[in-house]
Order: sequence, then C-alpha cells, then structure tokens
Amino acid sequence: MTQVKRLLSDSALRFICIVSLSTLALACGKPSTPLSDVQDFSGPQLYGTGMAAGTLSLTFDDGPGPRTAELSRYLKAEGIQGTFFIQGSAAAAYPEVLKQLHADGHLLANHTYTHPRMTAATDPVSEVRRTDELIKKYVTDGVFLFRAPYGDWNGKVATVLNNAGLTKYVGSIFWDIGGVRTERQDKRLTTAADWACWSFNDSVEKCADGYMNETRDLGKGIVLMHDVHSRTIDMVKNMVPRLKDEGFRFVRLDKAPTVAAALARRTNTGDSPVPEFSCPVGFAATDVGQSGGKLCVSDSEASGPFTLGMKDACREKGGGDACENSRWSRGLAVWLHGQGRCPVGATFDVTVNACVEGENAFGPFSKELVKRCRASSVNPDSPVCDSNRWSKGFLAGLAR
Ligand SMILES: [Zn+2]
Repeated sequence: MTQVKRLLSDSALRFICIVSLSTLALACGKPSTPLSDVQDFSGPQLYGTGMAAGTLSLTFDDGPGPRTAELSRYLKAEGIQGTFFIQGSAAAAYPEVLKQLHADGHLLANHTYTHPRMTAATDPVSEVRRTDELIKKYVTDGVFLFRAPYGDWNGKVATVLNNAGLTKYVGSIFWDIGGVRTERQDKRLTTAADWACWSFNDSVEKCADGYMNETRDLGKGIVLMHDVHSRTIDMVKNMVPRLKDEGFRFVRLDKAPTVAAALARRTNTGDSPVPEFSCPVGFAATDVGQSGGKLCVSDSEASGPFTLGMKDACREKGGGDACENSRWSRGLAVWLHGQGRCPVGATFDVTVNACVEGENAFGPFSKELVKRCRASSVNPDSPVCDSNRWSKGFLAGLAR
C-alpha cells in the first residue's frame, strides 16, 4: 500500500484543471469551420456514373493470386490498363507481382490488409495503412484509390479514415457490373459475379456470358472481378476479344468521371503523416501497451485525467484518495493503463477514432484536433483543450 502511495507522485497534489464535461462543451461550443475540404474519403461510394457509352473499366480484387502475373501480361498485350485492388495479406506471397503490375501499366489500389467489413472493423485505419505501405511505391501520379471489401461502407468509416490523415486516398469505389444481386443469390441466378460462378462450379463460358449480358444491358461501367481466383483469368481471356468485337473500349479507372473528380478535389496527394499527439506543456506522448496505447508522460509523471477503470485499479492496489489525482507517477500510470490500445476500462470507438468510457473520450488527442478545439473555443487560452479527457460528443463534433 505504501509502495503504491509512493508511486503517486507528490506533485500530483498540485492544482490541475480537471475538466468537467459540461465545461468543455460550453467553452468549446461547436466547431465553426466545416472540414469537408480535407475529407477525401466520402460517405457515398463512387460508381461509373458519367462514363461514356461503350467504355469499361476493368477492376480486380482480393489478389494477387497464382495467375495475377499472367493476367497482367495478357491485359498489357491487349492494350488494357486494369486496376488491381490489392489485399495486403495476399500480397505477401507474391512480392514480385506488385512490381510487375506496375511495370505493365496497371493501377495498384488498396483493398485493406485482412479484408474485414469496414463498418465493423476494430482497426480500419491500420487496415488501410498496412496495405498502403505495400503498394505506395508503385502508385504513380498520386492516384491512391480504395475499395471497401464487400462494398461495406458508410460515412462514419470515411470520417475515421479522413481524420487519421489518409486523405490522399479517394473511395470507396464501388462497381456497376459484376455484383451479385442478393435476392437472386439463393436461386443461383447470379447476374455476373466470378467468385459466385466458381463457388457454384459454373463453367468459364457460362460465367463470361453472364458478364457479357450484364455489360450489354448497362452499356458501360466499372467491372468487378477477382484475380485471386485462377479461373477468372480464363474468363477475362474469353471476354476481352468478344467485348472488343462488340465495340467496347477500355479506360483506366482514374479516368471514370466520378473517380477523376474525387482525385482532383483532394487537397493532399502525398504521404499522410500519422497525426502527432498533443500533450500538456512538459509532457510528451509515449507508447504504452502493445497495440497503440498512448499516455502523456514527463520524466517521472503521467498526465491524466485517467479512466474510471484505471482509478478503480489504483484503489484496489491501495492507492486511496490519491487515485483521484490528475498526475500519477509514470510507473503507476503505465502499469494501470494495461496492455491494450485503450486504458483499462475504455474501449476503442471507431466513430470517434478514440478510446471511450461511457460518454468520455480519452486522449492524448492529435495536434490537429487540439487546434480545432482551440479554434472553436470562446477562450482559446483555456486549458480544456489540453485535457486528455473530452466528452465523446464534443470530440465527434470536432472530428466531423
Ligand atoms: Zn474483396
């Protein structure tokens, strides 16, 4: 018990502004500047709307697969530039294929690392970042495109990715041709979807016919296929000569009007730095735990406010009233933070991209967010923006 009390530093007794949530809301109010100018992921998905009649853009997901290199060479020989939405975890087995796709003039694009449903993913930011690390050296002219697995997407995910500084990407890019209509799926009456064809053991010719029919119906659009499946390569070889015979032309995905407009609208085309965390004067953010947890620390102290879960743990260890302080010894705070990304008692919330406990969100928050907090505050010098605990609602308002 005395040991724990010793861990709580003396200077913890200094007066520290513990921000009441209502104070913060009052002091900071609503952000006045709309942030849409820096948001390059958009809530609505992008389709091939506005493409010229007779034009198609071929896109391939989930690869590389065993025959992606062959497909790359075939398309090049046919004068077609495709777009390959790379699944990072699949790329590990084919490091040379990424290089070849690029050399053959195709676009490499981002399809996450582990192919999760983005609206339910525990860490959507690292899903995009990890695959970005693999493909960015092959992305030329800043054409960073993203497609959500399963087309599972909403405005909240877009906001999380934008706030994480991934604004060099545009997306999510959907498709016009090659999707299964759910109501038909059970009846095995797919319109055209290669993965469904192969799971039903359809022939290459039958599957190609499905794509041909849907393509004739729509007359243009973004075509979805999956190069991770080898039979898809045979299907492409079946379809391309027929499509050419019927007068269809092929355009690279970044020339589709919706995609081109989104690319032109971006304010950021370079590498996006990980947002720098901001801590009170005299403290710096340090990594704790094993999956991205952070605390603001000085040489000997850590700066709260701490979560209720951490305070409970502190009291259980015999820390008594001192557990209410806003400054703890660094050792104690690191110990009670726990090993996860979020401090003990808090869980990660993708809608605000922060650790939350009830209505409280726990920092440290990024310098950009602190800047917005100050800009929206009636008193820019107020210490509330330096606090590591904001109300979740306030944070959501700032991040919007
Ligand atoms: Zn996919």
